[in-house]
Amino acid sequence: MTGAIHVVGAGLAGLSCAVKLADEGERVAIYEAARMAGGRCRSYFDATLDLTIDNGNHLLLSGNTAARNYGVRIGASDALVGPEECEFDFLHYGSGRRWKLRPNASKVPWWVFFADRRVPGTGPLDYLGAGKLLFAKQGATIGETIRCEGLLWENLWRPVMLSALNIEPAIASATLAGAVLRETLAAGGDACRPLVAKGGLGHAFIEPALRKLQSQGIAPRFGARLKEIAFDGARVSALRFGDEEIAIGAGDRVVLAVPAWAAQELLPGLTAPDDHRAILNAHFRIAPPRGQPLLLGMIGSLSEWLFAFDDRLSVTISGADRLMDAPREETAEKIWREVATATGLSCALPPWQIVKEKRATFAATPAQEARRPGAKTQWSNLFLAGDWTNTGLPATIEGSIRSGYRAAELAKPPIAPVHA
Ligand SMILES: Cc1cc2nc3c(=O)[nH]c(=O)nc-3n(C[C@H](O)[C@H](O)[C@H](O)COP(=O)(O)OP(=O)(O)OC[C@H]3O[C@@H](n4cnc5c(N)ncnc54)[C@H](O)[C@@H]3O)c2cc1C
Repeated sequence: MTGAIHVVGAGLAGLSCAVKLADEGERVAIYEAARMAGGRCRSYFDATLDLTIDNGNHLLLSGNTAARNYGVRIGASDALVGPEECEFDFLHYGSGRRWKLRPNASKVPWWVFFADRRVPGTGPLDYLGAGKLLFAKQGATIGETIRCEGLLWENLWRPVMLSALNIEPAIASATLAGAVLRETLAAGGDACRPLVAKGGLGHAFIEPALRKLQSQGIAPRFGARLKEIAFDGARVSALRFGDEEIAIGAGDRVVLAVPAWAAQELLPGLTAPDDHRAILNAHFRIAPPRGQPLLLGMIGSLSEWLFAFDDRLSVTISGADRLMDAPREETAEKIWREVATATGLSCALPPWQIVKEKRATFAATPAQEARRPGAKTQWSNLFLAGDWTNTGLPATIEGSIRSGYRAAELAKPPIAPVHA
């Protein structure tokens, strides 16, 4: 009998790791500090709004292969919805100009030759410049790699990179931007259809995973905060949760799938990202007007992306550190004025909620990128997972699930050789 695999943290990295291991017949135990699973990707009931909302609106793209595979594994592949073809609606807030960005499905980007598919006022050759990101030098910023000004920058690359990297793009890592570009626009429109968990993040990513694990006899232990890891030479020998100690036997393995700051407390000496950026979400309890697109990119306003759910309109603002100390009511009013203009709704401020996530993602700078550790550690039975580990992607759902799968591969006991 092989040992058990202990997964600490039930965010997407931990859940995806556990789901894959359980699918492959491994014995799995999950420990989660909070009273619920999901970590930075969760739904909860908000009493002010009398609605179930998400901690933040999450956008995925059809090219997020690991996230889609995870959806299939947990039986929730239909929970992400979006247009059949790649299209993004945009509004320039100052001028009121609207357009649709419509990359064609295949890898050959003929869409740039059609004015009604590209950003107004731009020409086909303008789009070539961003290609340099695909070959960016390790350690370079976007600002050092491409020109961060002009119409195309302001109306496409800056907003797209800001939402993908959650930091002012000019100072962000060019290799991370290149990775995003390679897996999305450069892979053709088929890889960049927007996908949104319209029924909520819990419904799309968390509850089906918990149900599936439960059907396999695995129930996470909630309220179980790992306080200390004990080592015996080159291996982990015990996990200490306050008063309780779980012995880690010879065949047991541990996957630490906690955020970077928690991993650094548990593993002194671990080099990991230590600078983070915030995301602010504003939720308004009001039905979207007829015809409102599921997702609207807003340029030149405080609001960046407007999501239209059946029971609410929600705005996401990335790299939002400057708003963390701003009065909530003032922020809600300002965002609502913009939303009302964008949607044509003329009513007063509806019931609202502002959700601030201060450490939403690690700061995607070259310096922080260089601090991301791999999944293997110096201890033979301890592996790391999380969006902050070295996935090659920014801190995203896709990155966290890839890290969970990678840790699962490493933590699986080796297959014993068959002797004739
Ligand atoms: C507001 C917001 C908007 C976002 N938008 C997008 C988006 O549009 N698209 C996208 O792809 N990504 C987005 N992201 C990023 C995405 O949510 C994260 O990359 C992903 O959820 C991280 O998952 P994780 O499992 O790596 O980490 P976490 O979700 O942080 O999970 C770690 C878990 O470990 C638990 N834990 C911590 N310490 C301990 C301990 N000592 N013992 C036991 N358990 C512990 C935590 O409670 C948590 O549940 C967004 C994030 C935020 C916050």
